[in-house]
Amino acid sequence: MKYRIKTDNLIKLIIIILGACLLAFSVFFIINVSVNHLTNEKSFINIGYNPTGVKSLDKKVKQLINKEKKAFLDSVNKPSNSSCERCNFVLDEDIHKYQGIYYVQIHISRFFDDDSSDKKTYTYIYDSKKDRFITLSDILVEDSGFEKFSLIIKHYLRKYAVDNKITIDDKLLTENSYNNYYLSSRGITILFLPHESFNNSDNVIEITIPWEKTNEFIKTKYQSKELQLKKSSITRMERDLTSFNGQKLVAFTFDDGPNEKTTKILLDNLSKYDAKVTFFVLGSRVDKNKEILKRAYMEGNDIGSHTFNHKELTTLKDPIIKKEIDDTNNKIEHILGVEPIYIRPPYGSINSHIKSMNTMHTICWNVDSIDWKTKNRKKIKQEIIKNVRDGSIVLVHDIYEESVYGALLAMNELKQKGYSFVTITEMAKLKNIVLDYDKTYYGF
Ligand code: ZN
Repeated sequence: MKYRIKTDNLIKLIIIILGACLLAFSVFFIINVSVNHLTNEKSFINIGYNPTGVKSLDKKVKQLINKEKKAFLDSVNKPSNSSCERCNFVLDEDIHKYQGIYYVQIHISRFFDDDSSDKKTYTYIYDSKKDRFITLSDILVEDSGFEKFSLIIKHYLRKYAVDNKITIDDKLLTENSYNNYYLSSRGITILFLPHESFNNSDNVIEITIPWEKTNEFIKTKYQSKELQLKKSSITRMERDLTSFNGQKLVAFTFDDGPNEKTTKILLDNLSKYDAKVTFFVLGSRVDKNKEILKRAYMEGNDIGSHTFNHKELTTLKDPIIKKEIDDTNNKIEHILGVEPIYIRPPYGSINSHIKSMNTMHTICWNVDSIDWKTKNRKKIKQEIIKNVRDGSIVLVHDIYEESVYGALLAMNELKQKGYSFVTITEMAKLKNIVLDYDKTYYGF
C-alpha cells in the first residue's frame, strides 16, 4: 500500500514536471515569437540598436524606432496586405564615438510581399559634453570655416575620383551634402550616401581629412587632443597680425635648403626686419639639418615641401611623384609633428594631375631674384627691389651665402619703403584669401 501511494506520487510528480516543462517551453515560444512576429504574425521585425548610454540620444533614437516600426506595422496590417507573409523590417546602426562626440546612423530596410523594398537612413550627431545635437556648422570656425572646409573636401573628392577611376560632379554639392560626418582618431570623415547629390553608386563614399589638415577650419575644442599633445612638444611662435593690416606685404621664400650654415645666417638676422619667411625644403636635406628646421618652424616661419630630390615632377611617373611628395612630408612630420601644407614644385613645373595627387597648396613666385645666376648680393638685392610690389612672392635660395645676404639687404631697403615681411599663411590671412587647391599662387 505504501509503495502504491509512492508510485502515485511519482506519477503525479512526473506529470507536474512535464507540465512545467511544457509551460516553460510555451512561454519561451510565445515570448520569442512575439519579438519577431508582432501583432499580426505577418511581419518579421529585427531591431539591432545598442543604446549608447547617452540618455537624450538614446531617447531620440528610440522615438525614431517606435515611429518607424509603427508605420511599418500599419502598412502591413492594411487589408490589401492580407497576404503579407514575408514582410520584413530590419534596422541596424553604425556608431562612432570620439572625444565625447557621438555619431549614430540608423539604417532601415523594409521588404514587402510583392518583392518591393525600401531603405532609409537617419543620422544623429551628438555632443555629450554640451548635451546637445550638433550640425557641421557647430564644429567649424565662424570666419570662413565652411569655405575652407568645402574646398578641402572637393579636393579630396577629386583625389578619390582619380584613385577609384570614377567621375564626380562636385557642382552638385550643397551645404547639406556635408551633414553626415563623424570624428575619429584619423580625422574628420564625411560620408556621401548612395544616390545622394553626386553619388550615383550603391556605395557610401567616405572621405577622411586627417586632423593635421583641419586646423584652419575646425574649432580648437573639437580638434584632436592626441594631435594637440603631439604638437605641444614643439611650441611655435605665433604673432599678432593686426599691426600689418593695410601695409604693403612681401612673402620671401627660400628654396633648396635647409643648410646648416647659410640658413642659420638668415634666421639670425630675420628679427632685425621683423620678418617671417617661408622655407621650401628638400626632403633629402631634412635629416642632416633637423635642428635648423625645427628652429625655423618654432620661430614662426612656414615650412613647405620642395619635394625629395628636386626632380621635375611633370616628367615623372605617378608612383615616383607620389614618393617624392610623401617621403618629404613624412620626414617633415617626423621632426615637426605636422605635415607641410604648401608645396613648391621644382622649376615651378606643375599640372592639375599632380595637384589632384597631393593635398597641399601650390605656391610659385612672381619675383625671381636669379640669385643662382648672379651669385652677388648687390645684384640679388637690386633684382628683388626692381620687381617687388605689394603681395609679391620672392624666390631666393638659402643655400648660398650671397643669396641670404642679398635678401637681407633687400629687406633693409624695403622696410624703409614701408614693406612688411610675412609668411604665406600670414599673407593669405591678411589679404583675406582662402587658398584653393586647384590654383597655383604666384603672388597675392
Ligand atoms: Zn629648387
